[in-house]
Amino acid sequence: CKRIVIKIGTSSLMLADGSVNYQTIDRLAYVLTVLRNQGKEIVLVSSGAIGVGLNHLNLPHRPKSIPEQQAVASVGQAELMNLYTRFFSHYNQIVGQILMTLDIVQFPESRRNAVNAFEQLLKMDIIPIVNENDAVSVEELDHLTKFGDNDRLSATVAEIISADLLIMLSDVPGFYDKNPTAHPDAVLFHTIHAVTSKEMALAGGNGSKFGTGGMATKLKAAKQILKNKQQMVLTQATDPTVLFDILAGKEIGTYFVR
Ligand code: ADP
Repeated sequence: CKRIVIKIGTSSLMLADGSVNYQTIDRLAYVLTVLRNQGKEIVLVSSGAIGVGLNHLNLPHRPKSIPEQQAVASVGQAELMNLYTRFFSHYNQIVGQILMTLDIVQFPESRRNAVNAFEQLLKMDIIPIVNENDAVSVEELDHLTKFGDNDRLSATVAEIISADLLIMLSDVPGFYDKNPTAHPDAVLFHTIHAVTSKEMALAGGNGSKFGTGGMATKLKAAKQILKNKQQMVLTQATDPTVLFDILAGKEIGTYFVR
């Protein structure tokens, strides 16, 4: 595996009290820098703009109106990148920001431009940090009631740059036969070869219906990855050094492969 996309979710970047999880950001910066220094090409897809924005503006919860959410995302994205830039700089690693909108998949020219940016950053040993451009892509924000759909964004990034592996860092150790948060007896799937309606049903059905697309969007991302004959690992973000184990071939989390 040379070219790796790592996606981290809001739930891993924020603590329960709404403050930023600096420890995870620091560990992530360390681990990704080590991998980069080993010659890997690393792309980080990071959620968290709204969470960090709420914290930075001292707002107790997400505002109702879309323009207010856009403003929070705008502040939060800048602060999120400020944090990443600072923590990565402790390890002498430079990062760049790429904000994506849907047109990147819709228009070949935009797609080419995005790919060029990724390729150039990687050539310069920079770690691109990607997010949806939440301050302007309102449709995404609309869907993003609690979780941004950075899951499918990360699969699309993996697709356009032909990544060897997508690693999703979440708040659960993997994909289970039922929601492990609600069912202690849930059983972890070690390997998934296809994402069908059978698997989708185990994620609690259509996420949008309940406004908690948590596992559903991850399975949709996995489906896209498998369609493109790529591979994905879903595991927990608690200790980012887990990335070393995954790349050493240890059986961690849920492995999606054809
Ligand atoms: P992130 O913030 O990392 O994107 P989410 O909170 O959106 O993560 O999604 C993970 C959540 O999905 C878990 O915390 C769990 O509550 C839920 N979930 C629903 N069904 C399943 C399942 N079958 N296996 C694992 N997690 C599930």
